[in-house]
Amino acid sequence: MRATVFMEPGKMEIKNFEKPEINGEDQAIIRVVRASVCGSDLWWYRGISDKEKGSTAGHEAIGVVEAVSKDVTNVKVGDFVIVPFTHGCGHCAACLAGFDGDCLTHSAGSSSFQAEYLRYVSANWALVKIPGQPEDYSDDMLKSFMTLADVMATGFHAAKTAEVKEGDTVVVMGDGAVGLCGVIGAKILGAKRIIAMSRHEDRQKIALEFGATDIVAERGEEAVNKIMELTGAGADAVLECVGTKESIETAVKVGRPGAVVGRVGVPHIDELDTNALFWRNIGLRGGIAAVTTHDRAILLEAVLSGEINPGKVFDKQFALDDVQAAYAAMDERNAIKSLLVMD
Ligand SMILES: [Zn+2]
Ligand SMILES: [Zn+2]
Repeated sequence: MRATVFMEPGKMEIKNFEKPEINGEDQAIIRVVRASVCGSDLWWYRGISDKEKGSTAGHEAIGVVEAVSKDVTNVKVGDFVIVPFTHGCGHCAACLAGFDGDCLTHSAGSSSFQAEYLRYVSANWALVKIPGQPEDYSDDMLKSFMTLADVMATGFHAAKTAEVKEGDTVVVMGDGAVGLCGVIGAKILGAKRIIAMSRHEDRQKIALEFGATDIVAERGEEAVNKIMELTGAGADAVLECVGTKESIETAVKVGRPGAVVGRVGVPHIDELDTNALFWRNIGLRGGIAAVTTHDRAILLEAVLSGEINPGKVFDKQFALDDVQAAYAAMDERNAIKSLLVMD
């Protein structure tokens, strides 16, 4: 089977591997139908963070179950499933509290997702069953299911951890796929005013389609001033979907006293001035999304009913063999998010 391999920063290739097999408990082999490139993949693609050369890649997929371990009873061969990047077990303290992204028994161990087949551990609880088969759905619907493996669940997690409530004014920092999905997340939770921070016209357009009411293109101090002008005292909740120092510092400043910042941008900073939080009673939460929990509780149903269409973040699609172009498109900002379509 073919799978994506990281050769060196800026260079991805497709290579042949043995098809993965069941080799332990709680596993499933998935025939991948769609996979995707994540904004977080760009950190190592650009050489900013480390990844072993020659290693396989990817952590977002949907597909059909090909085989399961003997102990797996919640999914069976032939089921169509969302394959989350997280690996909840469903019964540890973290999973029971609704934080399956921080599962205490499983954390990783699946094979890479940008491939024709993958081995998923934590198959019994974490896989999210989609009714029917891939052929029953339109390409647009498959794109929306795809976002439930990571970005839509992560955007929703930002809104959830920022404690967005009915009628709130919310600021969403970051106009990547996660930030755009954060707009949807805030809307689902009842936000009345959603201020999306974006300086790119194509992304502004999608943010507005997803439910944003205002766009702020400024950054840093100018952005803070603009948001204060719009809101008076700052936002009730702030979704931080970038992860840089500037973004987190800005997020803390644009919340009103007592606001909560929900952080889902993978942090690429060493330290934060937490005193800035103290002087304005700002709460800082967030972390790894609880993908299975959010998908089951609300997101899958919202996609199936057509209430939300997060798949619009996929503005470019590629065959698996063109994975280099899929990464380059996101790296060069020609794509918001690249979809990989298996043939
Ligand atoms: Zn991802
Ligand atoms: Zn667990």
